Amino acid sequence: MNVEKYQEILREIPENVKLIAVSKLHPASEVEAAYALGQRDFGENWAQEMREKHEILPQDIRWHFIGHLQTNKIKYIIPYVHLIHSIDSFKLLQEVDRQAAKHNRTVGCLLQFHVATEETKFGFSMDECEQMLKSPEFSSLKNVEIKGVMGMASFTDDTAQVRREFQTLHGFFTKLKEEYFAEKPDFKEISMGMTSDYPIAIEEGSTMIRVGSAIFGERDYSKR
Ligand SMILES: *Cc1c(COP(=O)(O)O)cnc(C)c1O
Repeated sequence: MNVEKYQEILREIPENVKLIAVSKLHPASEVEAAYALGQRDFGENWAQEMREKHEILPQDIRWHFIGHLQTNKIKYIIPYVHLIHSIDSFKLLQEVDRQAAKHNRTVGCLLQFHVATEETKFGFSMDECEQMLKSPEFSSLKNVEIKGVMGMASFTDDTAQVRREFQTLHGFFTKLKEEYFAEKPDFKEISMGMTSDYPIAIEEGSTMIRVGSAIFGERDYSKR
């Protein structure tokens, strides 16, 4: 890992912003190196990879699931996952709730919004999300706790566009907070910002940045 860059990020981010070190496709030894420096929050994109690391690494690590989650993979993460950033459908949230109940847990979740231009990115639209929040089935969920929102900006050099997309996400957060979660102090997280855009995300109100390559280097996707 790049220790200097890691420490530089920690120094430059405000106190209210949490750094999630994204360790996907990097070996457990890299997680251990960051752990030795005090890092406890790690992000992973694939359920089996997260499970393998969880099994061999220190138990006080807080595992953040940030990838697209398929319902048939929930079982690999549900006993221990700290926060699922990527709830992108009501069906997924209901299934997380059902499986969390089996494990007697309440699992923290963020609602992922689609704010980028790429069609390949996942997430709710505001309409879909409000339909869910207004439904009686949503009120009956007992084993999930919605703690905020998550989003990814477009992959582009146009920083003005990236900023607008983060502003859109922040606007969604504010609307939901006022209209649906006013009585829920734990609804307070805005997960936005990656290696290429986290400084802009912080300026636009991020409370959690998810940074991988700046800390751990390039990923080898041929391992997938
Ligand atoms: C991989 C990934 C990250 C980290 O990306 P970097 O550019 O390596 O910092 C953050 N968020 C999500 C959702 C990811 O899939």
